[in-house]
Amino acid sequence: MIMQRLTDFVWQRLTGLMPGELKHAELSWLAFPHQHLSLLTRRRATMVVNRVRLFAFLFAVLTPLWSLVDLVVFPFPLWLNLALMRLLTCAAFATLLLYYRPNGNLFDAYRAMALLFAIPTVFYVASSTVLGHYQLHGISAAIGAGYAFLPFVLLAGLAIFPLSLLENLIIASPILIAQAIAGSLRWTTLDWPSFAGAFWLLVLITSVSTLAGMSQLAFMIALVRQAIRDPLTGVFSRSSGEEVLELQFTIASRSNAALSVAFIDLDHFKNINDKFGHEAGDRALRDMTGNVSSNLRRGDLLARWGGEEFLLIMPDTDLSQAEAALLRLRSIGFGLRPDNTPLTASIGIAERSADSAADWKALIDLADQRMYLAKQNGRDRIFSRDAQILALNG
Ligand code: GH3
Ligand code: MG
Ligand code: MG
Repeated sequence: MIMQRLTDFVWQRLTGLMPGELKHAELSWLAFPHQHLSLLTRRRATMVVNRVRLFAFLFAVLTPLWSLVDLVVFPFPLWLNLALMRLLTCAAFATLLLYYRPNGNLFDAYRAMALLFAIPTVFYVASSTVLGHYQLHGISAAIGAGYAFLPFVLLAGLAIFPLSLLENLIIASPILIAQAIAGSLRWTTLDWPSFAGAFWLLVLITSVSTLAGMSQLAFMIALVRQAIRDPLTGVFSRSSGEEVLELQFTIASRSNAALSVAFIDLDHFKNINDKFGHEAGDRALRDMTGNVSSNLRRGDLLARWGGEEFLLIMPDTDLSQAEAALLRLRSIGFGLRPDNTPLTASIGIAERSADSAADWKALIDLADQRMYLAKQNGRDRIFSRDAQILALNG
């Protein structure tokens, strides 16, 4: 009993430390990326590539510039070697900058980031090999020692990317492992207390930059949620609905998969506002979206298209499945009007391949036209492929 209370207390305190801007369901997104909404993933991929490009630009400029410092402190042959390496490194960064453009693809973003980290790592290994052949003293020794800081810079640099815990660990571990291997190869001559101290510092820096990256991710999750949701109802906004539909249409066309949409327009909605006030109208809209959202299949998405108009996007759903889904939603109902009569809707359904829609806009237009047919034919009904759907197979 006491143990139970104590663990509850500790758990509450711990969850209280979690970023306040996140909802409960979003907390696990900080650890793993696989549940992220596609809109979040696309924005994150864009941000990662933009930051990679920024860093590639800075390094492309600074790496060759540092040659001026090397020129003052190092003997000429060493300087020449390092300067050539710096030029190659600069070229590699410039290529990275020119080659990668943000396209919303997370795997491209991972690849860009891996390259951003790989280029200085190669430079680091090559330059320390060359430096190893020289006995440096005084200021040259100090500048030479500076070359060993590159892994620290890299791991601290992780902090600028909005990454989950898992992604941070996957990116940081090769650098840490390489460092450990490099240490063990030099084991006999190694000053191991200072090596262990430096390694421990690397681990600490990795932890701090991982936390920084995760808190950037938390901030981004909250911002994206606010940007993609309609504030009144909490369903997706029209702009994010369009983004999702465009993406789903491309995916479905590529794999020739089914993709259905339903255009839902509430009937005589203006009457609610006129008779019971705008507040009552708002409440009816929230009830309606609550009812529909809680009865959707995972992967379906409801967006508010206009005032009392909604678009339901159903990936991997053919026409007959979409008709069945809308009949089911209609039988569950869209909530009640303030006078306790049912709130009804006119609905038009369209499907990508059955209706040979050329693009996502054509698909919406078809669903919209069918919704108008439903209005003209007396409202409170579903139209699909120019025919009214009364019941399954009916
Ligand atoms: P129909 O059956 O032909 O669709 O009739 P309707 O009254 O639903 O359609 P109409 O397009 O004439 O009116 C839509 C109304 O929806 C008008 C507007 O006042 C109301 N509306 C739009 N957005 C909101 C909102 O955010 N809150 C409230 N309370 N009402 C809204
Ligand atoms: Mg309307
Ligand atoms: Mg209406």
